[in-house]
Amino acid sequence: MRAMTLSTPRPVHDRPLTLIDLPMPEPGEDEILVKVHVCGVCRTDLHQVEGELPMHRTPVVPGHQVVGTVEKLGPGASRFKLGDRVGMAWLHHTCRDCAYCHRGVENLCPTATFTGYDAHGGYAEYTKVHEDFAYRLPDGFDDLAAAPLLCAGIIGYRTLRLSGIKPGGRLGIYGFGAAAHIAIQVARHWGCEVYVFTRGKSRQQLGLDMGAVWAGTSTDAPPNKLDAAVVFAPAGPLVPDALGVLAPGGAVALGGIYMSEIPPMDYTRHLYHERVLRSVMNATRRDGEELLELAVTIPIKTKTTVFPLEETNDALIALMDGRIEGAAVIAVT
Ligand SMILES: [Zn+2]
Ligand SMILES: [Zn+2]
Repeated sequence: MRAMTLSTPRPVHDRPLTLIDLPMPEPGEDEILVKVHVCGVCRTDLHQVEGELPMHRTPVVPGHQVVGTVEKLGPGASRFKLGDRVGMAWLHHTCRDCAYCHRGVENLCPTATFTGYDAHGGYAEYTKVHEDFAYRLPDGFDDLAAAPLLCAGIIGYRTLRLSGIKPGGRLGIYGFGAAAHIAIQVARHWGCEVYVFTRGKSRQQLGLDMGAVWAGTSTDAPPNKLDAAVVFAPAGPLVPDALGVLAPGGAVALGGIYMSEIPPMDYTRHLYHERVLRSVMNATRRDGEELLELAVTIPIKTKTTVFPLEETNDALIALMDGRIEGAAVIAVT
């Protein structure tokens, strides 16, 4: 099968992924073989191919927003039937037996594995996953529309949840890429007043078009103090900026897997008044199921730019250069 693989991390402009022929994966016990239709591109892919995240497997097929159909069932697999449409997300497998797994925070499982990182992902014609870690995808979304929900959507949703934002509250969104595009629709559905902080007038305008009451850069002062903020851009200097515009008791949740250095902060200006700063690590299957349900109810609209499999490097370059509005998606078959 055709697959885009990463062997040695290097700058994305050096085209780190190579198209090679890999043997077809064979689904093991309780696993399903998935024929990949499309796979969404995520900012995590950039951190991975450029080496900001250490390699866990060499070579590896990245890609963790997989939409496809069940092609083959491994021994014992019975949750899906052949031809069912399924999604795969970043969380690939957990032990299901540690304290974290029992507590409902399987995203923190110390032996969790991740799609496209520990296990081959979706930039290939086929991939496989334990049936319990695949998502049944609702109708009403075509493959392209569903792909960005699987990471940008799920992680964005968990980030919103962990920010503690309440219906009707004032929410800041920092960075306006794929995750923000989806999160703003959820926040608006909850009746929140949304403030978008992003560089670039066109992104600010997009935020306003999508229902934000205010848009500016991270150093602009919004007209009101905010109850919570979510940060999707991987830029450390945004952290004190976001904390600085919070009302007392407010929280900032950081949605990225990687962030550049956070500058020194001032206790009184940034943290006192019971303000909270927290990160988000992965997401649980429950987050995924809730987000997919919301996506149908709202319904969430996703904006996508499509690239063929052999142009995955071009998709990564376009994302790095800020040329993707919404989400990039690789069309595999
Ligand atoms: Zn566990
Ligand atoms: Zn992702």
